[in-house]
Amino acid sequence: MNLTSVDQIKKQNFCSGPAILPAPVIAEAAAAAADWNGSGLSILEISHRSKEFVAVMEEAESLTRELLQVSDDYAVLFLTGGASSQFYMTAHNLLGENDRAYYVNTGTWSTKAIKEAKLYGQVVEVASSADTNFSYIPKGYDIPADARYLHLTSNNTIFGTQYQQFPDVSVPIVSDMSSDIFSRPFDVNRFGLIYAGAQKNLGPAGVTLVLVRKDLLGKVNRDIPTMLNYETHIKKGSAFNTPPVYPIFVSMLTMRWIKQHGGVAAMAERNEAKADLIYQEIDRNPLFVGAAAKEDRSRMNATFVMHHTDLEGAFLEAATNAGCVGIKGHRSVGGFRASIYNAMPIEGVQTLVDVMQEFARQHA
Ligand SMILES: *Cc1c(COP(=O)(O)O)cnc(C)c1O
Repeated sequence: MNLTSVDQIKKQNFCSGPAILPAPVIAEAAAAAADWNGSGLSILEISHRSKEFVAVMEEAESLTRELLQVSDDYAVLFLTGGASSQFYMTAHNLLGENDRAYYVNTGTWSTKAIKEAKLYGQVVEVASSADTNFSYIPKGYDIPADARYLHLTSNNTIFGTQYQQFPDVSVPIVSDMSSDIFSRPFDVNRFGLIYAGAQKNLGPAGVTLVLVRKDLLGKVNRDIPTMLNYETHIKKGSAFNTPPVYPIFVSMLTMRWIKQHGGVAAMAERNEAKADLIYQEIDRNPLFVGAAAKEDRSRMNATFVMHHTDLEGAFLEAATNAGCVGIKGHRSVGGFRASIYNAMPIEGVQTLVDVMQEFARQHA
C-alpha cells in the first residue's frame, strides 16, 4: 500500500459527519490496520484487553484530560451508541422522576434530546429559536437553582449556530458537543456532563466521548440497566463490554495530532481564520447570504443559501468540479453548508472561496 497517495487522492472534504480527519492520522490508521507497530497483527484483530490496546485507551484518556484540562472530578469515557444514545442516557442517570431539567432548543439535535429526557423527568424547554428555523442562539433566560441541569447543544451542526459564550448559570450544564469538541478552549468545570460523537471532529463513527462529573451520579432513584449506567463504565475503564477499538485508536491519533499542532487554543485560532475567510466571502459575494445570525455563527459549520435558488445546482456542480465535496446543505435549511472542522486546512476553505468568486464573476 502506498500511504503517501492518501494525500494525493484527497478532495476538499466539507462533509458534516462522518467528516474530514487529518491526512497523517488517516495514513497512520491505515498502516495500523495492515500491521500495527510491526506486531504482525492488525489493530483490527487485537484484544481489547491486550496491554498494547490498554495503553491506547490510557493515552486517549490522558490526552483528553490534557487537551481539555479535565480534572479528576470527572470521568473520561469512550462509549458506543452515538451522541443519540446520550440523549436518553444523560437523563436516565441524572434526572429523577420528580426532578426538573431545563433544555434550550436550538434545532434538530436539541429537539431529539428533549424528546428523550421527557421519558425520565420534568423537562422545561426554557428557550427556543424554532421561531426562525433555528437561525440564532436564544439568550437571556433564567435557570432556577433547584434545576438538576441545563442542557444545550454547543454547536448546531445542521443550522450553523454556535454558543460563543456559555450561559452563566448556577446549575451544572450538560452539553452535546459532538460537532465542536476540541475546536476551542472552554472551562470544563462549568459542565456536569459533556458528550460528543467522535465522527465530527475527533475520529471515525463508532465511539462517543463522555466527560462526567462523578459526584452527580448515583442520585436518581431508579434501576439503571448495567450498560446504561455511567458508573459501570467508570468502574471498568470503558471496557465493561468490548469497546470500539479502532475508533478509539483513531481518535487517540487525532488527539496526538491536535497536541502536536498546539492544542485546542491553536485549533481555535486556525478555526477562526477559516471561518472568517468563508463568512467574509458569503457577506461580500452578491450571490450568497448567510443562514445564521451573524453573532451566533458557527466556526465549524458555515451555512449559506443563494438569493437565486435556481443557481444552486450549477454552483454545486462548480464546487464539485473543483474537488469540494459535501457542501450541499441539510434539507431543513437548504442551500449549502461548509463543515470546516479542525482537520480542514485553510487552503481547502480558500479553494471553496475561489469557486464562489469565480461563480459570481460568471453569474453577476
Ligand atoms: C451528529 C450529531 C449528533 C448525532 O450523533 P450520532 O453519533 O449519530 O448519534 C448529535 N448531536 C450533534 C450536535 C451532532 O452534530
